[in-house]
Amino acid sequence: MRQWKWEVYLVAHSAKEHYRQIFNRRTPGEVRTLAHIKRFLECFLGDAGFRSALSENLDNPRSVAARYGIEVDPMEMLPLWHSSYLKSDRKPEGASWPLALAWREYIGEMVRNRDLLRDEGNMSVAAPRFHAWRERQMRRCEDVLGDCSKSITHPVIAFELSDGCTGGCWFCGLSAGRFKDYFEYSKENADLWRAVVGAAREMFGSAASTGFCYCATDPMDNPDYDRFLFDYHQITGTLPQTTTAMPLKDLALTKRVLQLFERYRCVTNRFSVLSTAQLNQIHATFSPEELMGVELVLQGKEMRSSKAFAGRARKEKLSAVKNGDATVESESDHSTIACVSGFLVNMPRRRVQLVTPVPASGRWPLGYRI
Ligand code: SF4
Repeated sequence: MRQWKWEVYLVAHSAKEHYRQIFNRRTPGEVRTLAHIKRFLECFLGDAGFRSALSENLDNPRSVAARYGIEVDPMEMLPLWHSSYLKSDRKPEGASWPLALAWREYIGEMVRNRDLLRDEGNMSVAAPRFHAWRERQMRRCEDVLGDCSKSITHPVIAFELSDGCTGGCWFCGLSAGRFKDYFEYSKENADLWRAVVGAAREMFGSAASTGFCYCATDPMDNPDYDRFLFDYHQITGTLPQTTTAMPLKDLALTKRVLQLFERYRCVTNRFSVLSTAQLNQIHATFSPEELMGVELVLQGKEMRSSKAFAGRARKEKLSAVKNGDATVESESDHSTIACVSGFLVNMPRRRVQLVTPVPASGRWPLGYRI
């Protein structure tokens, strides 16, 4: 019991505290500056119109930024975006551009936080056999997944609160099935939910706080999502991460989730952005400051982001290869979006699977082994 408490103590001073410190150790003005640098980079990477306006106004990029409501001077962060200065990024001479320096420092802290999240899954005391299994999976992933294994935090549990997904994204690395139903927050379901999360907390100790509540589902398909999230926080002391490709589908729900984030601030959230038009809508709906705790993952075809070779993206690519329109890169090159080394629980189907990431293949096309 004593050891268990010590484990909790260690975690309380790790990922969550570290994440809060990233913001608390900065002045409100510094956080605001980061929020506007972030918005600038989102526009730069996700909006071809913004890029061409910049290239036409290289002597006065501030005017372009101002048109997009961005209140930082792009001249103070040239290594982050200007092709002639990219070579100075992350180099000592980069210190001449204070905003580039501030951004790189922030990103370094976020990468450190990701590593702490992986450590948070430590169950050496609470569940030694499960812990040893997860450790083995982490080492195997390092071996077979190449660089992309560094970004995998191996949460020990994930919950699906719907059956299927309304997203239908062409690139879905998990080939989410068609939406059938969601897990309503009825009295009976809420009791079951709290009992299951409670059991996870009891069995896995503080590692249960690595869990999250979506997988081949989108949180916004469940109108009660925030109520489940709130319970999760009450039971584990951690508000799980939310990732959604539909942040505008039920704006009131998204805002409730962001309010929970503001209150508990445990881990950054993510919006997947499927097109430049959606990026602009998101920017019109939320201020840079409101999105400081939300990473925008730019997934649109026009956004030149690479897709994991798994699920539907794999199927599409294989058919392009068959037609001679594409080639397949190395198997270890970003070949899964799976991250859980532990239990995947679908609440409406009452299904529990033990899963771990693998490179997507004919046998495991979704990039995880069951
Ligand atoms: S990527 Fe996400 S939102 Fe899109 S279909 Fe898959 S699970 Fe649904």
